[in-house]
Amino acid sequence: MTKKRAITVAKGDGIGPEIMDATLKILDQAGARIDPEFIDIGEQVYLQGYTSGITDEAWESLRRTKVFLKAPITTPQGGGFKSLNVTIRTTLGLYANVRPNISYEQFIQTKHPNMDLVIIRENEEDLYTGIEHQQTNEVTQSLKLITRPGSEKIIRHAFEYARKNNRKKVTCFSKDNIMKITDGLFHKVFDEVAEEYPDIETEHWIIDIGIAKIADTPEHFDVIVMPNLYGDIASDVASQISGSVGMAGSANIGDQCAMFEAIHGSAPDIAGQGIANPSGLIQGALMMLVHIGQPEVAEKIHNAWLKTLEDGIYTGDVAKGGASVNTQEFAEAVIERLGEKP
Ligand code: ATP
Ligand code: MG
Repeated sequence: MTKKRAITVAKGDGIGPEIMDATLKILDQAGARIDPEFIDIGEQVYLQGYTSGITDEAWESLRRTKVFLKAPITTPQGGGFKSLNVTIRTTLGLYANVRPNISYEQFIQTKHPNMDLVIIRENEEDLYTGIEHQQTNEVTQSLKLITRPGSEKIIRHAFEYARKNNRKKVTCFSKDNIMKITDGLFHKVFDEVAEEYPDIETEHWIIDIGIAKIADTPEHFDVIVMPNLYGDIASDVASQISGSVGMAGSANIGDQCAMFEAIHGSAPDIAGQGIANPSGLIQGALMMLVHIGQPEVAEKIHNAWLKTLEDGIYTGDVAKGGASVNTQEFAEAVIERLGEKP
């Protein structure tokens, strides 16, 4: 039995504490070798005067453990508050956003029964560098930054991900018919890196028709890699049409640190009622377990989670007239099925 891995955990706002407690209970019962350190982030921290929603002690924990399991937070209304996600991403150098989008047609209604794709979005460059100018009263300008090292890093990440996860194809999205220099560089680096992975099929789509293709025939795709802004848009389209926004997790990966979370927000409308679906955060936690070298625990939980859905046990958000349980009961159902297969 290896030593427990220290991880940093934030319970967040809204439904955050409810889904985090459920997730941690499942991890514990499945035998995950983790030692959580809890930090406060989010609404209360913003209101105490930290404009980024995070304290110095929290940074200290993150820098030490380098692994962050994060529940959703609420950014208070009104100006002056910086997005905590952007701050964490840039401070910890989390250059890759990895988002699997799977439709669970056996359990959840979807127009796309065979969807199983992963979007790998560059997370540091492109139009997100925040370099904007007001040239005159009537003219504004924003700088799109695409670098060779940045592109190479994310594209290599996509191919390595494909290899590790037994995926067959990597697709590149860009708009290099218009942005010949910036997107042209991204596409060129893609073609270069692709040559090092002859075992993996590759293709390139122009972003607009590529996203249309996702919306229409998502089963065409496997792993898709793209610059920051396109990734933002494509991942929301993909998660929406999979029919399971409450079921998806995401990973933000850097050279040193990594952050794992659900893709949904803090859902203040249902907070405190104990009815939220913990599945998105569970998916994030499974990606974390693989990242820290405990894939066998991840697989055990994943099987139990699938078996739970197969047995018709859903939270209210996905139940289509079937049996509906609350957050706690859902977690217990998963725990009861640990060791079973779907
Ligand atoms: P944010 O601005 O924080 O991203 P949002 O406006 O995108 O938030 P969410 O918080 O993601 O919205 O919620 C959108 C809707 O989905 C709400 O009605 C919410 O109740 C529901 N929802 C989100 N997550 C869950 C969940 N885990 N279980 C059940 N319902 C959820
Ligand atoms: Mg949102």
